[in-house]
This record gives sequence, structure tokens and C-alpha cells, in this order.
Amino acid sequence: MSADAPITQDVLTIPRKDAATDGRVNLVGLTRDGLREALVAIGTPEKQARMRVNQIWQWVYHWGVRDFEAMTNLAKAYRATLAENFRIELPEVVSRQVSDDGTRKYLVRIAGGHEVETVYIPEEDRGTLCISSQVGCTLTCSFCHTGTQKLVRNLTAGEIVGQIMLARDDLGEWPEPGVGSGEAGPRLLSNIVLMGMGEPLYNFEAVRDAMKIAMDGEGIALSRRRITLSTSGVVPEIARTAEEIGCMLAVSFHATTDEVRNKLVPINKRWPIAELLEALKAYPKLSNSERITFEYVMLKGVNDSDEDARRLVQLIKGIPAKINLIPFNEWPGAPYERSDWPRIKAFADIIYKAGYASPIRTPRGEDIMAACGQLKSATERARKSRKEIEAETGL
Ligand code: SAH
Ligand code: SF4
Repeated sequence: MSADAPITQDVLTIPRKDAATDGRVNLVGLTRDGLREALVAIGTPEKQARMRVNQIWQWVYHWGVRDFEAMTNLAKAYRATLAENFRIELPEVVSRQVSDDGTRKYLVRIAGGHEVETVYIPEEDRGTLCISSQVGCTLTCSFCHTGTQKLVRNLTAGEIVGQIMLARDDLGEWPEPGVGSGEAGPRLLSNIVLMGMGEPLYNFEAVRDAMKIAMDGEGIALSRRRITLSTSGVVPEIARTAEEIGCMLAVSFHATTDEVRNKLVPINKRWPIAELLEALKAYPKLSNSERITFEYVMLKGVNDSDEDARRLVQLIKGIPAKINLIPFNEWPGAPYERSDWPRIKAFADIIYKAGYASPIRTPRGEDIMAACGQLKSATERARKSRKEIEAETGL
């Protein structure tokens, strides 16, 4: 990729109605407006449509119901009409691996037979689900396993929100109809991070629609402050993220000079550090969120010097920020090593003394290759060649 080459999105879309599902439309992933239109299209009177949307929405996203027959506040005949025209379907869980530390990794099959990974990370006071937005990635960050896999396609909104729903299925976290609202006690799945496979801002509309569904108070009802979208730095979409999603933002910063960042995060050639920082500066106000998370992967001898730490602090001056240090997670054939622990501590210390929170992310689920940057669907054989990677990163 040269500095001025367009970043192309080589996206395949799947038809919503496909023969394998006898033409019925999947309701999962439709926005409220989309659901309304779908209901009107099958003859629901305009006047009733809003109420029907509310009813169906609650069944699907609050109670986790998958069968129209169970929607007891709808007339029997209407339920039958719904069942004739619609499906309520999630992507299929092909396998589930559980790490020694309780992390669960789901291998999820989506339409077309492609696979993505979703990771659930239980912690003392919360449970975070790391979801994917694309099969593979168009970008080629040189330290990221997903970056070695070609983009196969964007996920649909239904496949994105479906990952949240299937994790709730597995955790047994839907309330039981008629028993309670399910709002008592802490949630097992309380936070979402868009840090799985793919660049979420290259699949903006589907990510937005899925997050709107996850935030909707009458359904899954996760607060926008509990959703963090991580981007490698797609500058033109950052303001739009604030305005149309309003979730928390994390940025894969990883370097303090353009020279090094060009190699680690090649999208930097297109939108270099100065432009990225400008967009980030505006984000908290636009989205009414407190601070931005700067992710910084610790690579031995590459970006982990005291000088880097000091430069980082200088660069982010004026931006309300937290710096999340990520010890590099290795994967087969990775061209880097994790910084030594004392180096990571020294780096963290400089940042902390400058007044920023600098948590070091504990790798989770390493034994099942579920840690940050280790995801790559083994069944997707499409690989970027070493040459393609070299051409993009200059490594
Ligand atoms: N595409 C988005 C989100 C997915 S990656 C992005 O790049 O931000 C989620 C985080 O994991 C990013 O900060 C990414 O840079 C980091 N990451 C990727 N590979 C990693 C690895 N091998 N070890 C540690 N962190 C990694
Ligand atoms: Fe894609 Fe993010 Fe990996 Fe970069 S770090 S290759 S943007 S998934």
C-alpha cells in the first residue's frame, strides 16, 4: 500500500433471502425501523406496526425467545403469519473452548460457511465479550494474527449482535419469561469490546446497527459506556462513530513516530499520527464520553523504550486518555517478541507519573489462542502472502 493508495474494501454481501432458509427473512439484526418495514410488508396495519415492533423486540432481545409460538401477547394467527415469513436465527456455534482461566472462545459459523471467533472473558466485577466485525481484515498490522488473513467478508448486523446473543445463550443469561425481569444482580455479560477479528470502522453500518440493538433499553440494554469500539485509526469514521454510535473508543496506537507506526499499523501511511490525534481530540466532546483508551502493544526493542513512553505522553497531551499496555501475544510465525516484564513496568511507570492510568492488560485465554491479536479462523485458508505483507509494511 502506498501512502495515497485507496484502502479498498473487498466486501461480499449476502442476500438476505436465501434458498437454504426457504426465503424467510431473519429478524435478528434488523433495526427498529427495519423491523417495522418488514412487518408492514407482510400486511401488519401501519397503525399497529409500532406496537408489534415493541412486542417482538422484547421477546427477541429481552427474553431471548426464538420461537414465534412463544410470543403469547400476539394473536395466534399473527404468530403463524410471522413464522411463515420470518426466522429468528443466530450464527451457529461450531465449537467452544474453555481456558484454564475461565475464558471461553467460541468458533462461530456464519452464512456461506465462514467462521469467526468470539471470546468471553469473565472478571471479578464484570464479564466482557470480545466480538468480531469481519471475517479476516483488509489491514495488515504486522503484529496481528488476523492481519495475516485476507478479508473474506463483512459481518451483517445480525451476525454481530448474534455473537452477543449466542454468548448469552451459553451463559444462560436470558431471563425466564414470566418469572422475573432478569435485572437482579450483576450481569455475566456486562461489557462488549469490538476487539475481535476485523476493523469495525470498515464495516460501519452493520456495526452501528448491531450496537444500537445491544444498547436498546427494551432489549439487551447495555449502556453505551460499556461498549468499546477499537479502531486501528480510520480517521474519517471517528466523528461518525461519536455521532451515530456514541460508544467508548479505543485506538490501536502502538507507536510514537510515523516511521514505526507505518510498519506496525500500515493504515498510518494513509492517516498519520497527527491527523489521528486531531480526530481523537474531538471525540470525547462529540460522544460525551470521558476518555479514550490508547492501546499500546509492547514489542521488544521496537516501541518499548523510555523515550517512546515520554513521546507518547507528549503526543496525547490534552486528550482525556487511559493507556492500555498490551504485552504482545505470540502466534505461530509472529515476527516479534513480547517486551520483558521490567521493561513493561518501566514504560507504565513513566506514563503513570505523567498522570495517566496505565493498566497492563493481562493476557487471557492464551492456552486456547483467545488472547488479543491471536484470533484467526483456522478453517479460512486464504492467507496473505509474505510478499503482500512485506509490500504493505515494509518489514
Ligand atoms: N481492528 C481493530 C480491533 C481488533 S484488534 C484494531 O486494530 O483496533 C484489538 C486489539 O488487539 C488492537 O489494539 C490490536 O492492535 C491488538 N493486537 C493485535 N494483535 C495483537 C497481538 N498479537 N498481541 C497483542 N495485541 C494485539
Ligand atoms: Fe486488522 Fe486490527 Fe489486526 Fe490491524 S490489529 S490487522 S486492524 S484486526
